[in-house]
Amino acid sequence: MDRITIFDTTLRDGEQSPGCSMNVQEKLRLAQQLDRLGVDVIEAGFPIASDGDFEAVQRIAASVRRPIIAGLARACKGDVDRAWEALQGAARPRIHIFLATSDIHLKYKLRITREQCLEQAREAVRHAKSLCADVEFSPEDATRTDVAFLCQVVEAVIAAGATTVNIPDTVGYTMPEEYGQLIRTLREKVAGIDKVTISTHCHNDLGLAVANSLAGVQQGARQVECTINGIGERAGNASLEEIVMAMRVRPDRYPYETVVASEHLFSSSQMLAEITRVPVQPNKAITGRNAFAHEAGIHQDGMLKNPLTYEIMTPQSVGVPDSRLVLGKHSGRHALALRCEQLGHQFERRELDEIYRRFVVLADRIKRVQDSHLLELIQDVTSGAASQVSDATSSQTKKFPPIGATMPLPRAAAAAANDSHSAHISGSAGQSTLSIPFADHHSDQEDYLWGV
Ligand SMILES: [Zn+2]
Repeated sequence: MDRITIFDTTLRDGEQSPGCSMNVQEKLRLAQQLDRLGVDVIEAGFPIASDGDFEAVQRIAASVRRPIIAGLARACKGDVDRAWEALQGAARPRIHIFLATSDIHLKYKLRITREQCLEQAREAVRHAKSLCADVEFSPEDATRTDVAFLCQVVEAVIAAGATTVNIPDTVGYTMPEEYGQLIRTLREKVAGIDKVTISTHCHNDLGLAVANSLAGVQQGARQVECTINGIGERAGNASLEEIVMAMRVRPDRYPYETVVASEHLFSSSQMLAEITRVPVQPNKAITGRNAFAHEAGIHQDGMLKNPLTYEIMTPQSVGVPDSRLVLGKHSGRHALALRCEQLGHQFERRELDEIYRRFVVLADRIKRVQDSHLLELIQDVTSGAASQVSDATSSQTKKFPPIGATMPLPRAAAAAANDSHSAHISGSAGQSTLSIPFADHHSDQEDYLWGV
């Protein structure tokens, strides 16, 4: 399988996201974690931007020895010299130069012509190459650059000594096929491109950063620039954990490998969130707190029987301690019984029925039932309320009406019964929709109803 270089820019592009700035100590701590995670390149900062950035790059270069340490520089001598100064102590330094190439950037931001741009890029790379063997060049806003001109710039920087050519979708504008096509065009038209590494750098403004990066890889890019939790300018960068796991879970589609130790993904994500105090969105792929949580009864039931029913990767493979079965109103009796067992309580069917009944009422009110709530409920049922329990369980009328009145179950069950795909469920639903989840006879299907 082809090897993909993982270039982490959490400390540079990621740090540029609002609220994510880090001090030198914090950057150092995160760089050490990125080293444990196994990324190939750490972009440690933009040395000319501030003294703090300079110091961070310097200290990371001095103490993190395995990965390549990159420092960012604009395409001018002062920036390149400052980056090189910061990288002095690095075991494997890289100077990363960028210069915008799109007409809109040239005209309004840089106020230079295409010819001046070409010359400036060539000069900066030549100078960097005289200092450092490993030089990366990024034509900023490449995806909105005239393709013929982009080819010209890329060819010029390769001739000047660049070893990696990065193609940034700076504004998050491109689409997967389009971006893949751009990488293919560069490979077809640029002299010398087969001697350098092509890299992707995609922003997530349309939610396509990961898809675009993978499309680039399929067309020959062999380095992906990305960040932990996908942080970065505006909507962020391609998310490192998603890129890595997409390749790991689907080698049939993406036969590429990285040396990232995926079991450190979750702890890396947690560390970043802790340092920046920017929480990870709960439904974030791979590292969100709900990424491996299953609440729906049908899912929980399936998970308990065989995790492969709803899990395409194990939580352990990305370092999440365990898949969490969240107890909420959609949970089934099977999951509830298991949690009770984990809390040290085993129940007879009738006792469990009563706990389940109360659990459902509670879950409807508080959404998420914590262990402490469950323990309280168990105590309530097993102690003073014991006589009430037997009363309740012995009487169908006493047992169901109050719940039926407040729970959406009858409607859900009725809907399931009307659904032709759920014929087996309607069969077991029997005479009274109200009695389904609390029926005395055991039926595997009762758990399913809650997850339909
Ligand atoms: Zn960027």
